[in-house]
Amino acid sequence: MTLGSGAQARFRVIGELNSRAPRKFDPPRDEQGKRLRVSEFYGINTFDIQKMREKLPKDIYLKLISTIETGKKLDREVANIVANAIKEWALFRGVTHFCHWFQPQTGSTAEKHDAFISFDDNAGTLEKFSGSQLIQSEPDASSFPSGGMRTTFEARGYTAWDPSSPVFIVEHANGKTLCIPSVFISYHGHALDEKTGLLRSMEVLSQKACELLHAIGDTGIKRVVPTLGIEQEYFLIDRAFHNLRPDLVMTGRSLVGGQPPKGQQLEDHYFGSIPARVQAFMSEVEYDLYKLGVPVKTRHNEVAPSQFETAPIFEEANISTDHNQLTMEVLRKVALRHNFSVLLHEKPFAGINGSGKHNNWSMMVTGSGSELEGDNLLDPGRTPRQNLRFLLVLSGVLMGVHKHAGLLRAGIASSGNDHRLGANEAPPAIISVFLGDLLNRILDELEKGTDSHLSAEAAVLQLGVGKLPEVMKDNTDRNRTSPFAFTGNKFEFRAVGSSASTAFPITLLNAAVADGFSELTQALKKKGKPAKGMEAVVLEVVKDAIRETKSIRFEGNNYSEEWVAEAARRGLPNLRKTPEALAEIVTSKSKSLLTGLEIFSEAELVSRFHVRIERYIKNLMIEVDTLRSMVDTQILPACFAYHGSLAQGAAAAKGLGMQAPQTEMMNRLFQLITTLQSKRSMLEAALQKVEGTASEVEKAQVLAADVSRVMAEVRSTCDELESVVSDEVWPLPKYREMLFLS
Ligand code: ADP
Ligand code: MG
Repeated sequence: MTLGSGAQARFRVIGELNSRAPRKFDPPRDEQGKRLRVSEFYGINTFDIQKMREKLPKDIYLKLISTIETGKKLDREVANIVANAIKEWALFRGVTHFCHWFQPQTGSTAEKHDAFISFDDNAGTLEKFSGSQLIQSEPDASSFPSGGMRTTFEARGYTAWDPSSPVFIVEHANGKTLCIPSVFISYHGHALDEKTGLLRSMEVLSQKACELLHAIGDTGIKRVVPTLGIEQEYFLIDRAFHNLRPDLVMTGRSLVGGQPPKGQQLEDHYFGSIPARVQAFMSEVEYDLYKLGVPVKTRHNEVAPSQFETAPIFEEANISTDHNQLTMEVLRKVALRHNFSVLLHEKPFAGINGSGKHNNWSMMVTGSGSELEGDNLLDPGRTPRQNLRFLLVLSGVLMGVHKHAGLLRAGIASSGNDHRLGANEAPPAIISVFLGDLLNRILDELEKGTDSHLSAEAAVLQLGVGKLPEVMKDNTDRNRTSPFAFTGNKFEFRAVGSSASTAFPITLLNAAVADGFSELTQALKKKGKPAKGMEAVVLEVVKDAIRETKSIRFEGNNYSEEWVAEAARRGLPNLRKTPEALAEIVTSKSKSLLTGLEIFSEAELVSRFHVRIERYIKNLMIEVDTLRSMVDTQILPACFAYHGSLAQGAAAAKGLGMQAPQTEMMNRLFQLITTLQSKRSMLEAALQKVEGTASEVEKAQVLAADVSRVMAEVRSTCDELESVVSDEVWPLPKYREMLFLS
C-alpha cells in the first residue's frame, strides 16, 4: 500500500535523527582563548547585590538594601540614582530595551518592552531611564486574567519593581533586554499576579515565626525567610516529532498514543548516562542560567525514558520562584536551538511517569545579627535547647499542614497535575506528611509522654532527638511516595506540578505554617510561666500539637489502595480532581486564614478561584477540540485508508477465486472503527452537556467527570487501532519513536 503523507513525514523524521549531532556553543573565553570558569561569568547578566555594592554610592546602596530588607518603598531620589547605574551597566552590556517582567496568573511571565532611546531638548537622541521607569510601569492590564476582579472602570493595572529580586538581562539572537522583576497590581491595590501574594506570605511567615521564637526566649530574631530549592523535571523529544503531533503542540500532552513494548520497567534510564545531544543541551541551558545568576547545581536522567531533571542551589523563596520561571523559559528557548522540544507538562505520556517540581522548603533566620543568624529552623541542633526549638518549629509545620491540607491541595490543582496525582508514580491527591522512621518514633514517644520526673532537657535527651542530625543525613528511609516529606532539614513538597508556578503553592504553604506558628504561640502564652521553666512548657505544647496533628502523618506507601481507605477513615480530604480541589480556596476556613493574615483580600481570593477554574475549562476545551480534530482528520482517515487497501486486496483475491486472508483483520478494524465513531459521538454529547450548564463551576465539573471519561475511552480505542493499523499509514509519531530514539 502507498505511504500516507502523515506516515511519510514520520518516517522522514526517523531518518533525519541519524544526522542530528550535538549542538556546539561557544563558551566564554579569556584573551588567551582559555575557557572561563563558571565563577568568572556567573551572574554577568544580573545586577545583583555585588554589582549594587560596586556601582552605587555607599549611602544609596545602604538605602536600597534597607528597602529590600524592610519591603518599604524606594524613595524617588534613590530610585533615580539606582536607575542610572543600572542603565549604564545595561548599555555597556549592549542592551537597547527594558521591560517590567511580571507573573500574571497565567502560570508564566509577561513583559512589555520599551526602548531606552529618547529625544533630548535639542531633538538629539540619547538613552534615558529614570527612577520612575524603574519603579513603575503601566501595561494594558485588560488582557490578563483577573478572575472578574477588574471591572471595566478599573481596566488598568500597574507593575512595580520588586527590589528584592535583582534586574537581569535577557539575550536573544539580535539584541538584549533589561528585565525588571515586578509585581502586578490593580489601581485599587488588588494583586493581579502570583508574586504579590507570595511576598505578602513571606512577610507574614516571618512575623509569625519571630513571635513564636520570641515566646520561647529567642528575642534577638528579627526576620525569618522561607528558602526554596526547586527541582524541575521535564521531557525532551525531537522537535520534528513534536511538530507532527497536534496534541503536543496544542496541549503539551499526547491525547492518544499506544504503550511502547518497553516502558521504564527496565529501570535503565534513571541516573543513566546522559545522551550526547541532551548533554549538549543541558550545558547550554546551564550556561545561560549561570549568566542570569541562577545557581543550577544538579542534572540527571529521570525515571522515564527521555525524562530529565535540573535543580539549583536553594535561595530565598521569591528569588527561587523567579529563577524557576527563568529556568523554564531557558529550557524552552535552548531546546529549540538543539532541535528539541521540552515538555513541561505534568503527564505528557500516559502510562509513563509524569513530571513534578519538588519544592524543597525550609526557613532561615536572617537580618538579625542574633546568634541564630543563618540558621535553618528545620535543622535539628546539637543541644537539648536547639532540639526543643526544632521540635516546636516542626510542630508548627505539622499544625499548619494538618489544618489546611485541603487548601494546600488546591494550590497544586491544575488540569495537567490531575493526570499525575494519584497515578501510580506521583504523590496522591491526599496531602499527608512523611517524617521518616526515627523522627516519627520520637514523636510517638513524646505523645505517649516522657517520665514526669525528668526535666524537659533530660526528656529531650532521652528521646534521642540529639541523634537526629546524623541519622537524618542518611537518606535510607526516604519515602518517595509522600506528597510532603521531611528530608533531614527541609520539607519536600513533591505534589507541585512540573509546569506550575511555585508562587501560589508556596504562598499557601507559608500561610498555613504561619497559622500553625500563631496557634503554638497562643498555646505557649496561655500556659504562662510555670514553675518548671520555659522548656517544660514548650515540651507540653509540642506534645499537644503532636496529638492534635497525628492524622496528617503517614509513613507507609502513599500509592496503595489501603492508604486511600485509611485516609478516609482519618477524615483527610481526598480531592481527586481540580474543580473539587479549587473549591477549597473559597471555603470560609480558607477565607478567614488568608484574609486574617492579610495575604489576600476576599476579592483577591475569589478572583484566584475564578482564574483557576477558567483556566481549567479552557485547557480541557482545547484538549477536546484537539482530540476531535485528530480523530476526524488523522486517525479515522488512516483507518479508512488501511481498511480500503485491505478490501482491495480481498476483492482481488476473491476475483482470482482465492480465499481472502484480510477478512479477519477487516472485521476487527470494522469493529474498532465503529466503536471509535460511537465514542466520538458520545464526546459530542458530553460536550453538549457542558454547554447546557449554567455556571463555570458546573462546566468544570462536567469536564472533569463526563468529558474526561469519554476522552479516555476515545483514546483507548485509538490506541488499539494504532496497534493494528499498518505502520505505513499511521500519521502520528509513536511513543516508541519519540521516547527511545536518540
Ligand atoms: P534530592 O535527593 O531530593 O535531590 P538534595 O539534597 O539534592 O535532594 O536537595 C534538593 C534541593 O533541596 C536542592 O535544590 C537543594 O538546594 C535544596 N535544599 C537543600 N537545603 C535546603 C533548605 N534548607 N531549604 C530549601 N531548600 C533546600
Ligand atoms: Mg527530590
